[in-house]
Amino acid sequence: MTAYLLERAWVGGAVQDSVLVEIDGGRFTSVTPGSDDDKFHRVPGETSRLPGLTLPGLANCHSHAFHRALRGRTQRERGTFWTWREQMYDVAGRLDPDTYFALARATYREMAAAGITTVGEFHYLHHQPDGSPYDDPNAMGHALVAAAAEAGVRISLLDTCYLSSGFGRPVEAAQLRYFDGSAEAWAVRVAQLRETDTSRIGAAIHSVRAVPREQLPTVVEAAQGRPLHVHLSEQVAENDACLATYGVTPTELLHEAGALGPLTSAVHATHLTDADISRLGATGTRACFCPTTERDLGDGIGPGRALQMAGAVLTLGSDSHAVIDLFEEARALELDERLATQQRGHWTAAELLAAATAHGSLGVTDAGEIAVGRRADLVTLDTATPRTAGTGADENTAVFAATAADVTHVVADGRVVATRDDHEDIGRELAAVIERLHA
Ligand SMILES: [Zn+2]
Repeated sequence: MTAYLLERAWVGGAVQDSVLVEIDGGRFTSVTPGSDDDKFHRVPGETSRLPGLTLPGLANCHSHAFHRALRGRTQRERGTFWTWREQMYDVAGRLDPDTYFALARATYREMAAAGITTVGEFHYLHHQPDGSPYDDPNAMGHALVAAAAEAGVRISLLDTCYLSSGFGRPVEAAQLRYFDGSAEAWAVRVAQLRETDTSRIGAAIHSVRAVPREQLPTVVEAAQGRPLHVHLSEQVAENDACLATYGVTPTELLHEAGALGPLTSAVHATHLTDADISRLGATGTRACFCPTTERDLGDGIGPGRALQMAGAVLTLGSDSHAVIDLFEEARALELDERLATQQRGHWTAAELLAAATAHGSLGVTDAGEIAVGRRADLVTLDTATPRTAGTGADENTAVFAATAADVTHVVADGRVVATRDDHEDIGRELAAVIERLHA
């Protein structure tokens, strides 16, 4: 049994003072706002106080762990998403299961220190550089699951089907590593992956570029009952090519294949028609926005509020890890809409916090809330740093003032997985693994 007295905490959709939480078996067994010192002292077992503002665990719903090696290294040249992709492919070509593990562990440790307790890893780097499988055909996926376990972050491994380089074009060069030959062969490999208490196995369609229309239903069927994620309309060029090839938008193509629904996340969902927005909303599909990546790559600003109004619940991801900071992703939803509309006040801080803590799209239905019976995740923010001081120590502090650097203490499944004291060590680990990769 462990207990914390939280100075302030986000409980039941509001900030509450002096919240006593008791944890047993990795779950909250009691959550009591307005607790006094006497009560705290009477709790048996290990007890500590957490000053500041404590939030539920954050869910990073879209990650490509290896992109972390590109941060700061792709900013010198002009170009587009497509020229950036060449640099990304270059890093992908250098990884093997050992280096992938090392890079992912360091990246997930950065996530843990930023308050992320579950990551959705959109995983397509499966095979050897010539496309042949490793002795263990899931060696790369297993490396990611092991890396997350060592970092103390839960993982939903979204194993990704990738079959073509573009509409009607075979895979080439770096993409050989992503390629399973057919949706059927992809499904056979993915069926060998096993879940644990801290890992879920989900599926992904890389994009409508990478999975031909006739193969989509096979992926959808294999993903039944599990999370299914898909990059959707991140680029205008994808929409144009999809319309030219099939005569429908990517959203309509996915709908025809039965791919939309509450277990599905449309990642990016940037360039949509009004009919696409209605379709995603009506099917209860989630939309995973990754604003810091979308701005880094020059993708555009997606219709976040319109999607939510239509019924598509929003989630957040750090995607290419240009930044790993879900507070920044959350406020970008609002701030980007301000730029696009010249109006303020599209989202409340409470709604944005809900997006940052929404674990459901990762197949984790028992986390994201400080409540009895839930997985015991606690993310504590220092409310007296130069960034957060004087901002009210409430949900607006979290969403509109704090950064990942203000996170002081992170508990996942009842276990302390990062504190501010770890920052230096995590920095050293990241530098060592990334510099080796680029040497
Ligand atoms: Zn992505």
